[in-house]
Amino acid sequence: MTSALRRRAAFIRWLRSWRRWPEQVARLWLRSLRFRTVVVTVVCSSLAILVAWVWMALAIQNDLFQSRRTEALDDAARATAAAQETLDSSVQTDTAQVRNVFTSVASTLNRLSSSDRIAMLRVDSSPSANAPVPFALGGDWDREVSDELRTKVASAADLQWWQSIELTDDRGARVPGIVVGQQVTVPGVGAYELYIAYDLGAAAQTLGFVQGTLWFVGIALILIIGAISWIVVRSITAPIGQAALTSAQLAAGRLDVRVDIHGDDELAILGRSFNAMADSIQTQIKELADLSLVQQRFVSDVSHELRTPLTTIRLAADVINDHRAELNPVAGRAAELLYAQVQRFEVLLTDLLEISRYDAGSVQLEIEPTSLAHLAEDVVASMQELAAQHGIEVRVVAPGGYSPVDMDPRRVRRVVRNLLGNAIEHGEGRPVVVTVDSDQDAVALGVRDFGLGMREEDTERVFDRFWRADPSRKRTIGGTGLGLSIALGDARLHGGTLSVWSAPGRGSNFVLTLPRRAGSTTLVPPVPVDPGDAATEDLGMTQPIGVPDRDGARTDTGGRA
Ligand code: ADP
Repeated sequence: MTSALRRRAAFIRWLRSWRRWPEQVARLWLRSLRFRTVVVTVVCSSLAILVAWVWMALAIQNDLFQSRRTEALDDAARATAAAQETLDSSVQTDTAQVRNVFTSVASTLNRLSSSDRIAMLRVDSSPSANAPVPFALGGDWDREVSDELRTKVASAADLQWWQSIELTDDRGARVPGIVVGQQVTVPGVGAYELYIAYDLGAAAQTLGFVQGTLWFVGIALILIIGAISWIVVRSITAPIGQAALTSAQLAAGRLDVRVDIHGDDELAILGRSFNAMADSIQTQIKELADLSLVQQRFVSDVSHELRTPLTTIRLAADVINDHRAELNPVAGRAAELLYAQVQRFEVLLTDLLEISRYDAGSVQLEIEPTSLAHLAEDVVASMQELAAQHGIEVRVVAPGGYSPVDMDPRRVRRVVRNLLGNAIEHGEGRPVVVTVDSDQDAVALGVRDFGLGMREEDTERVFDRFWRADPSRKRTIGGTGLGLSIALGDARLHGGTLSVWSAPGRGSNFVLTLPRRAGSTTLVPPVPVDPGDAATEDLGMTQPIGVPDRDGARTDTGGRA
């Protein structure tokens, strides 16, 4: 399909989706500064032009009408005076001719008035033998003369009256007009009303032409103003749009992007400042990255360097500890302390080396199909002694997770050991439940304790390096504050997640989720992270057990056998 055809198809599709137009316009209004500015400018200038248009049209209309009316009144006054004169003179000369006097009056009026629509009507309708016959020339327009005008004309002898009426022109079209009326007196007979109608069609035509021109000019002005505002706004928003796009790319980590700069105006200054800021950020990030690299190397080098002397010290401490019975009590106690602290030191060094390996990106997984449920049972069994020391019962609930999944068992075992160690350490002597379950995408292991728990702000920092919730808490298995950070690194290396739920006084729940296949993007843990209100009920999944209260009392939760 050619691009023209494609464009046409897209246009037809757009036309068909007319129901979504209001929504699209609303979205455009919210998103596009250019659209908003052009619409506001066009609407405001349209209103201003409309007001000016109405005002000008009315002023021109009034002016045209008034001048035509004055002309008509003058013309009618002149013609009426001449008609009166004709009447007076012809009746004086020949009284017998009174009935036919209107013939000469009509010719006088025709000659003197610019209109040929003339009517002469009798005021007094009583029959008279010598009264001339009323007449109306130029069509039957005289029917349009209202009774009101006739009453007014009949009421005053010298006054001129006028009224707007509709006339029919030569082609039969209705045109606006004005009729002027005044009394004339036929000597010896009485008063007659003389009406002369004037055609205002020419004035109406002029007005129509002027209004048409005003419409045309108004619409052309609105279009020109719209186009100008679009061009002006575009010249401003295009560089702003580019700056916004560039800053988004910068925020996404592309530190080398810069804004194009043209000219020397305010926008160019903005662009230059933006680029200077980007340069400065790039330099600082590079410096920080270099510094961080130096620090990582330092930690790695120091850990390596310490390893050899520490091994020697540990061997020596082992020997001394083995012979502490032969030492005096003070020296024996010192040997015990030395042994314990050297062991702690060794754990710290191992953790530090592991962390520096993560930082250097040199960690390789040794993958083999492993059953997470069996692995969990092994770890629980190996830590039974520690749990017993804390008076803690560790229970494994594994409705799923038996089928082998690709993982590095050494690292996963380390994660489970860490989670279980923490649960035992912070479990306050209450049972710990290890849950393993799976679905078609993932396998998961949750370690739930009912101990102290953590506040929300602590939960957010729990995976930070060297962070501990409360340094004053009793520490028995000698943590370094690196365990969870390493566990999270292990989970991520597998493409999995390590999530936490914790509430003060209700305990904690750590859930490790591993994908069944590498590359699964969004993982929903098959074991719920937030145990919800049914948390204590879960304790009874295998058999009813008693959960001791803070004050030592036991509460039977009952359970699903
Ligand atoms: P450590 O070696 O100190 O245990 P971790 O990284 O494993 O280091 O844990 C960091 C901190 O998180 C611990 O010191 C403890 O304060 C808190 N923490 C970890 N697990 C739990 C838990 N189950 N209950 C309460 N606090 C916990």
